[in-house]
Amino acid sequence: MISKVAVIGAGTMGNGIAHVFAMNGFEVKLVDLSAEQLTKAIATITKNLDRLIAKQTLTELQKAETLKNLSIATSFDVCADADLVVEAATENVDIKLKIFKQLDEICKQETILASNTSSISITRIGAATKRPDKVIGMHFMNPVPVMKLVEVINGYATSRETLQQIDICTRTLGKIPVEANDYPGFVANRILMPMINEAIITLHEGVAGIAEIDTVMKLGMAHPMGPLQLADFIGLDVCLAILNVLHVGFGNPKYAPCPLLVNMVTAGYLGAKTGEGFYKYTAGSKELVVSERFKI
Ligand code: NAD
Repeated sequence: MISKVAVIGAGTMGNGIAHVFAMNGFEVKLVDLSAEQLTKAIATITKNLDRLIAKQTLTELQKAETLKNLSIATSFDVCADADLVVEAATENVDIKLKIFKQLDEICKQETILASNTSSISITRIGAATKRPDKVIGMHFMNPVPVMKLVEVINGYATSRETLQQIDICTRTLGKIPVEANDYPGFVANRILMPMINEAIITLHEGVAGIAEIDTVMKLGMAHPMGPLQLADFIGLDVCLAILNVLHVGFGNPKYAPCPLLVNMVTAGYLGAKTGEGFYKYTAGSKELVVSERFKI
């Protein structure tokens, strides 16, 4: 049975994953190379728990218990006795392969090693370890405390037993697991990213402006958020990394990332997390302001 969980990476996704596990009674170790990211993550989790209290869906006692279940570390050594490790570090294949090799050395034999990767092959990650049967994809959606779906990805060598344990664990978190096989982008991003890329190409070719493209998709297709706002929310670096995986993985030019996206990532305009992408973000303000760079 899974009761001790380690989460690797305390960024956008890692803090949400740690939040959800801790709130559901798991003992959670949140690990990041950056102490600053860990401090920020605890502040974000505390703020999000306070929001639940304000909505009367959480009590002060439950908040205290959640925070008690949570500890932070900058060393992977704390993963040794985890039943499950969920890796949510930067979307970069070399970083992930190195992390999984380290975890394979450190963790007990029975530990399941899951990755929250949006697009990197679970089979490839599994093959970097001596336990590919216990390596699986656990693709949470952003924002993790809110979104119900977890795409569960079977690598080529993932065992049925690992899949069953992750299925049960996901349901314990109040989430719905959906099983997919390991091909580039799995299901969610194979469909989502070409749409986001096409929205960026539409902007780049001057067919319509940012607000217009997002409004068409919100009002016309009943999407809760337009594709350009969603790209900012996900992180433009993450979108680019996924498109590159689709492009290389299928060898099909239809997945080639728009040069505008490449430029924005190269320049460090990564969306909400850096304060600017297609929109400009000001702390404390919810107003959606188009970046001045795109104003004609
Ligand atoms: P992020 O950039 O916000 O955070 C990544 C964190 O990983 C950083 O805090 C960084 O310090 C840490 N890190 C980097 N190398 C590390 C290492 N070797 N050991 C420990 N920590 C390390 O990224 P994110 O958006 O949270 O994405 C994390 C993962 O989740 C990626 O695989 C991404 O594809 C996936 N994902 C992202 C989203 C999204 O909407 N952002 C949605 C689903 C899945």
